[in-house]
Amino acid sequence: MANKERIISFPHIGNYYVAIEFLIKNTLNMKILIPPPITKKTIELGSKYSPDFVCVPFKYNLGNYIEALEAGANFLVQAGGGCRFGYYGETQEQILKDIGYDFEFLSILNTDDLSPFSTYGIFKNLNPKLSLRKFTYYFSLTFKMVEVIDSIEEYIRENIGFEVKKGSFEKLQKNFLNEIKTINNFKEIKSLYKKYDTLFKNVSINKPQNPIRVGIVGELYTVMEPYGSYFIEKELAKKGIEITRFITVTYLFKKHPKAKDLIKNSGKYLKYTIGADGTDSVSKAKQLAEAGYDGIIHFKPFGCTPEVNAMPMLQNISNDYNMPILYFSFDSQSSETGIKTRLEAFYDMISMKREKEKCKNVI
Ligand code: SF4
Repeated sequence: MANKERIISFPHIGNYYVAIEFLIKNTLNMKILIPPPITKKTIELGSKYSPDFVCVPFKYNLGNYIEALEAGANFLVQAGGGCRFGYYGETQEQILKDIGYDFEFLSILNTDDLSPFSTYGIFKNLNPKLSLRKFTYYFSLTFKMVEVIDSIEEYIRENIGFEVKKGSFEKLQKNFLNEIKTINNFKEIKSLYKKYDTLFKNVSINKPQNPIRVGIVGELYTVMEPYGSYFIEKELAKKGIEITRFITVTYLFKKHPKAKDLIKNSGKYLKYTIGADGTDSVSKAKQLAEAGYDGIIHFKPFGCTPEVNAMPMLQNISNDYNMPILYFSFDSQSSETGIKTRLEAFYDMISMKREKEKCKNVI
């Protein structure tokens, strides 16, 4: 391995691969290999070599690694921390080595350590010529890129369900993601954001004044990786629903409230933190209920303890505010048909509830 050219790869999560690729390209002297997009084969491969009981993000990540190694990668990165995620790296490395792959593995264990300065140390080890100044510049620019992606995607979630010409948002989003890869500095990203903000706002939509609104809460991987939730956001949009979700990389790194504030915002429903994203789920569910949302969908990987902890409080919120919550527990064996049927029933329930309320107001 010592004399071999390093080819770096990392697991998928939403469209953030664009930003990760940008940061690596500008700071490390390594070839980059983006893993093939997640498919059924990815999760089958990941599940085949994962312990049965492990939560599903582990399996998706492992599947990404295997596909990347097969495509020629020889340097894998795992970033994460908190909860069981903190143990993913070593276990995945061992599994892949046991299968027989020859590679280097870098596990960035704790997200609390992902401040620009400590991350610089990790990058400097990989590229001794990298200056702090250059790293800080590209780290900040990458974060700006993430913010732009999150802001554009938030607008898409809120409006794609109402597009007049089917496919307009997706087509424009593809162009946006291709173009954002070509930026070089803050000025360019600012003008690209301006351009696409206008382009997206010019897409014709036919949105009612008071559309059905659904909020999504839950575990971060299944919330941010569309394949992990079997593209539920897309299914909701097809029904003409405005979608809100809080968890994005921008939220996690820049807007995330302190634990004590999350508990305060959760009111009577929480006294203590309940791990990983569970506290967020309760706090945000209450916020959505108070804002009069028609319903909430809760995503969790099968066996995800923090989200299991959150469920009784979510149910209390649902009862107190008379707001339906649909719970999904995803695993590699989840049935797509089952998911669609439950979504269909949920949609019927929230739209009938709307109709009833309308009739009450007329009487
Ligand atoms: S938050 Fe849930 S899915 Fe994520 S590592 Fe922990 S248990 Fe697994």
